[in-house]
Parts: sequence; structure tokens; C-alpha cells
Amino acid sequence: MSTFKAPKGTYDLLPPDSAKFLAVREAIAAPLRNSGYGYIETPGFENVELFARGVGESTDIVTKEMYVFETKGGDRLALRPETTAPVLRAVLEANLHKAGNLPVKVWYSGSQYRYERPQKGRYRHFSQVGAEAIGAEDPALDAELIILADQAYRSLGLSNFRILLNSLGDKECRPVYRAALQDFLRGLDLDEDTLRRAEINPLRVLDDKRESVQKQLGDAPLLRDYLCDACKAYHEEVRELITAAGVSFEDDPKLVRGLDYYTRTTFEFVHDGLGSQSAVGGGGRYDGLSEMIGGPALPSVGWALGVDRTVLALEAEGIELELPSTTSVFAVPLSEEARRVLFAKVTELRRNGVAADFSFGVKGLKSAMKSANRSGARFAVIAGERDLAEGVVQLKDMESGEQVAIGVNEIVAELESKLG
Ligand code: ATP
Ligand code: MG
Repeated sequence: MSTFKAPKGTYDLLPPDSAKFLAVREAIAAPLRNSGYGYIETPGFENVELFARGVGESTDIVTKEMYVFETKGGDRLALRPETTAPVLRAVLEANLHKAGNLPVKVWYSGSQYRYERPQKGRYRHFSQVGAEAIGAEDPALDAELIILADQAYRSLGLSNFRILLNSLGDKECRPVYRAALQDFLRGLDLDEDTLRRAEINPLRVLDDKRESVQKQLGDAPLLRDYLCDACKAYHEEVRELITAAGVSFEDDPKLVRGLDYYTRTTFEFVHDGLGSQSAVGGGGRYDGLSEMIGGPALPSVGWALGVDRTVLALEAEGIELELPSTTSVFAVPLSEEARRVLFAKVTELRRNGVAADFSFGVKGLKSAMKSANRSGARFAVIAGERDLAEGVVQLKDMESGEQVAIGVNEIVAELESKLG
């Protein structure tokens, strides 16, 4: 062990387990790629102001969880705690929204950083795959994203998850609701911090996890009773489209996001095998965000799914992904000349697209065969002085244990045909 350890709240992805993370990212990305979403990548850090405005000054993310630093040049930057604001920043900066075909549909995959209290499923460095559809207001777009996330989870074999759905209204109806909620909250027995929050960001109080608070919220006014006709019709259409796609969901009238630029559709994916860190993904409409960061009005919708928690969900459901073995052929040379001959064969196989590996370092047959086993290779190719003198190598089927001699010049073609 070295003197150093991974920083608190972080962990390393190591083979072979890291393959699961790649597979999860791929499973989430595949339906997006297949639905008109293009890949976008933004820097791991941004001007801190982008998050202050684009995530919200009053959120936990901005007040407590950001890694903020000043560069030698005096810039105030933050490691990204989320990627929606950066994506919108990038789209606006490149004028993608002016190219004339809205919505701009993009997906991303990458690290997020939040200074949180580390627990199972809650880390300081974690990874998300996300999708954003920018510049269109259409219930079919909200429905598309929910359906694609559902498809991604199902393609991984997950079934013990639920979709919670709500509408947050818009700038017509939300202010009326906000005032009614505030009135209600002022009459409760709440601590000072919570009362202050009720003044700044009353919807967030509904999200308070403490039982002492939840107990008092039983009779709180609900947004759904305040939705204007346009919001009601919009939400009804989202629900109908999802239902028609065979995706089931639960209406959750208390599901909220506190900030004014979140509008209408909001949803969360929760997994029931994860204990208190049960949210595997979430998203919704953010029609006001573009204007918050200095852009034009661009109604948009998106989600972010947590890769780490999705892997935990797979474990909770006992799902073993069928990950194809990464190595098909493993070469074991038993002499100097065999090293040169087999190394050349491995190179040729690789150039022909066959996954091949080689026994490196000076090893005896026994320990080299152990490496071959560990590699998961379907075939081992073994050669020593005597084999080469006879112009052959030994081809061993690692499943049946059967071994046959094959001409040195035929081995590559033979392996290619055996591996289909
Ligand atoms: P939570 O309520 O659990 O804090 P959140 O509302 O902060 O979640 P989002 O910002 O919506 O989460 O991020 C989307 C997804 O990213 C979450 O559903 C979760 O799967 C994942 N995620 C968020 N924070 C963390 C974290 N600290 N560690 C691991 N995954 C996380
Ligand atoms: Mg959080």
C-alpha cells in the first residue's frame, strides 16, 4: 500500500467490477443515441456563478456542497456538482439553439462533485448519465425522456423501481400556490431555519425528510389543486403518453423542486432496495433556466441518472450483467523464440479484431496458465521449443480442456474461424 488513500467520500472503479459501471453507462446511453440525442461533453469545472444562478443560491448544492476554488489567474471556479447548467451554457455559447431545429437534444456522461456527508450511495465524487432536450415545449418530449429512462433501467434487468411524477405548474399558477403554502407553513410549529426556508423557498419544505416536519404537512395545500388549465392539460397529456407506452408511474403531489425555473413536469426514479439513498435518477422541465443564465426563453426538459446508485440497485436485485469476457485468446510462450512468434501472432489477432492477450514476464507454465484462466479467454495458445521445431503451436480449448497441435501458419485463421 502507498502512503495515500482515495479522498474521503470517493472510491476507485477497479477491474473487474469497473466493467459493470461501463455497462450501466452504456445501457443508459444506448436508448438516447437511438432517439436523436447527440453526445455533449463540457469541462469538469465552470465559473462558480453559473451554478449559483443555474442551480440556485438557496439550494443545498450551492450553499453547502460545491467545491469552489480560485485559480492562480483569479478566476472563481467550481467543480461541477451537476451538468444541466453547463450543458445549457455550452448550447447557448455555441448557438446550437439558433441552428433552426429545436429541440437541441444532447446526452452526457461524467463525474460530478458534491461535498456531502458520505454514506452508502452518497459520495463526494459520483457519476451521472444525463439527457437534455432544449428549446421545445411539448408533452411528448417530457414523455420521451421518462420512457427512455425506463427503457434503460429495464434493459439492465431492473424491475424494483418506481417512477414518481408531479407537475409544478408555471409562472401563472405557481405563485398563487406558493403564497397559499407559505400561509399554511407560517402556522406550523417549525424551527427557525425551516421557517426561514418557508419564506425563501417554501416548496422545499415539502421535501424535508424529518418526520417531525412531515407529520405537520398532512394538510398542506397541494399544487395539483392550484394548476391552471394549461398546466393541467399539459400534465394530462404527459401522463397519457407514458401510460400508452406501457410505463407505469405514481402520482406524487409532494414531489417538488424548489426553484422558480423548474416548471410543470417533474419526476424521480426511486429504487426500493437502496434504503435511504433511494433516488436513482431525477429530472423535469426547467423552462426558466435559460433566462436565469442570460439566455433567451428556451423551455427545456431533462434528467440525470446516477450511475453509482444504479450499480447498487443491480446488486440489490441480485442481477449479474452478462458481460462478455474481454479476452478471447491468451498466448503462453515457453521459450525465447516462442515469445517472438506468439507476440507476433497476438499482434496479428488484435489487428484482425480478436481480443488477445499475452503472458508477460518470465513465468513457468503453471503460473502462465493461471493468468490464461484468470483472463477468461476461450482459447490458450501455448508453444515451446519442441513445438516450434515441429512447426506447430498447441491450441487449448479452455472450456473443455482439449488440446490440439495446429500449424504455426494456420493458427490465426483457425482461431478466427473458431471464434466466429
Ligand atoms: P438526493 O436527494 O439523494 O440528494 P439529488 O436530488 O441531490 O439526490 P440530483 O441532483 O437530482 O439528486 O441527481 C440525480 C441523481 O444523481 C440522483 O438521483 C442520484 O442517483 C445521483 N446522485 C446525486 N447525488 C449523489 C451522490 N452524492 N452520490 C451518488 N449519487 C448521487
Ligand atoms: Mg442531493
